[in-house]
This record gives sequence, C-alpha cells and structure tokens, in this order.
Amino acid sequence: MKTCKSCGFPLKFARYFEWRNDGSILSTDTTGTASRITFLPDGELENIFHGLSQSIGLPVDPFLIEAQKQIGKELLANLPLRYAQLIPSSRFFRPQFAVKLAVRLISSDFASLGDGIVRVEYYRAGKALVLRVKNPCLIPLTVGSASSIYESIENMPSSNIRYGMEGEDLVIWLSPSREKPEREKRLYLEPVTPSKGNLEYKRCQNCNVPFWASETLEWDMKSGIIRNKKTSLREAIVSVQSINAILRELSSELGDEVRDILYEKQKDHEKNSLETQRELKENWEEILLSMAFRGLGYPTSFKSGDNWIEVEIENPYNQELYAGKLAARLETITNGVSTIHWEKERRKYRIETQK
Ligand SMILES: [Zn+2]
Repeated sequence: MKTCKSCGFPLKFARYFEWRNDGSILSTDTTGTASRITFLPDGELENIFHGLSQSIGLPVDPFLIEAQKQIGKELLANLPLRYAQLIPSSRFFRPQFAVKLAVRLISSDFASLGDGIVRVEYYRAGKALVLRVKNPCLIPLTVGSASSIYESIENMPSSNIRYGMEGEDLVIWLSPSREKPEREKRLYLEPVTPSKGNLEYKRCQNCNVPFWASETLEWDMKSGIIRNKKTSLREAIVSVQSINAILRELSSELGDEVRDILYEKQKDHEKNSLETQRELKENWEEILLSMAFRGLGYPTSFKSGDNWIEVEIENPYNQELYAGKLAARLETITNGVSTIHWEKERRKYRIETQK
C-alpha cells in the first residue's frame, strides 16, 4: 500500500477519509457517496448493546441484523450497481465465479473498513450463499450487511439467515426465503450536513491528514484489521448514519428509555476503559480534541467548573453516547457520581458530580 512520503499515512485512505474542522470525519467511497464515520475501539458498541439487551431483557442482535440489512439495501440502492452489474440478472446464468468476483470486490471494502476478510465458502444460484469472515468485528452488523448484499444479488425481498462462530471465524449461511418481510419499513439515513467548525488540526502538508491519524492508525489489509498504534488495540469504523438509524428505530419500538439506558451503558463502559489507561487526560480541551479526532463531533460551547460541565453540541455522532463519554470523564476526574440535566432536545446539557 502506498503511503504518504511525509507522514506515512496510507494514501488510499487519505483520499477516502476527510477529517473536517468540526470534529466529524467523512468517508467518500469510489462512487462518490459521502457518509459520516467514526473510529471506535473494537468491542465498545458490542458491549453497550449487550448491556442494553440485559437491561431490557430482550436480545437486540436480531434487531441490529434486520436494521443493518435495511440500511445496507438503502445504501446499495443508491450505488450505481457497482457490484450487481457484474452479475447476470437471470438466475440460470449467474455463475459462481461472478458472485465470487463480486464478493472479492466487497471484500476489499470490508478489509479497508477493518471488518475482517470475507470469502465465499459456497454459492449456488437461487439456493444458498455461505460466507466466511476472518477476524470479524461488529458481528450483528456484519451479518446484516451480508444479508443485504445477498438479497440484492438474488433480487429477493427476504432471506433466511443463520450465523455462528467456527473457531475464530464468523460463518454466515444465507438462503432464499418465501416469506415476505414483516414490514416494508425503510430506515431513513440522515443526510450528511456541511461542516461549520473552525478546529485547527495540525495536518500533514502533503496529504492533509491530521498527524493524530498517521501517529495512531495502522491498516493491516491482509487481516482486515485497523490497529491503534498507541494502545495496540483494534479500532472499528462505524457508520454514524447507520448507528443513529438503528438507535432511532430501537427507541421508537421500545420507548425513549432506551436512550437513557444507552447513556448509562456508555458511561459505565467508558469508566471501565478509563481505569485501564495509565495516563488519564484531565484537560478538557485535550479530551474534546481526542474525541474530535475519532469523528465523534465537537461542542459549539463548552464550560467547566470543579465538579460540572456544560455542553452544547450540534454534531455529536450520537447525543447519548457522546454525553455518556463526557460523564465518565467527569466522574473519573472528580471521583464522584454524576447527574445529567438535558435541554434543547438533548443538544445542550449540564453534568454535575457529587462526592
Ligand atoms: Zn501525509
């Protein structure tokens, strides 16, 4: 992979990803479609969703798979049939090599996004597709994306999905389903908004990527893994629009308390991971910047005192998750228990701790 002569960042990803001055990151794919992404430590979202499942007493994985499938179809519907044009539309003329070729193209996108390596294990037109994913990440979302690709290739409204781990590999079995999907509801994706920020990152003169990115992120394309050079942990790229469509849908199905549970779960998760960090940042500007580099957004106004912070933010990746991260920091710094007071449809809030 070609890298920047000055900072060493992979040039392919310097073209794909744009660190904007408002604390968001845009990813533009080969078709020119832009979407907003974030870099989150691997396992963070899984952990939060697992906590949510336990709190509401329902597994959320089936819901995540279904939602991601619909989002995948929405995205594929917008693509100029990059993959599908390789595949003859008649089922009888759809040879295995064409589907394998299509999946190989998809595989390079999967690896670039740090989602592991996907291979076709078995395909028979109109019968079944079996995919094997090495080094999988965000498993329910990967399963959802895989089924959206399958249903698009086969041009059918629904499929049977089974999946499980074989050793370290995720194996996904897909077959056509006669059932009509329960509801034809489509999850809408929020449009990407223009950047209004004025953050000034120290950027590489040559490739324009912030030095944070070249100092922190490393792609292992053979394994489909993105690593954090500073922590040696794996990083996951998460689509902001997908995650918000899923969370919006979860709240409308299960009630608004889902949002409060997510806030609490994110706070707990963040506190646990802060405990294992040796050098805890206590300077709020540094904390906010470290979150902006990950594409989580940046406040339009931020005030802090000994045991409180006041935040107004227009572009967090998600309101509750962003606030939960800040609350965890405040609790850790002040060694207290926090309460949050939301205003302006949760775009503004005050978090305060008491010993
Ligand atoms: Zn550079």
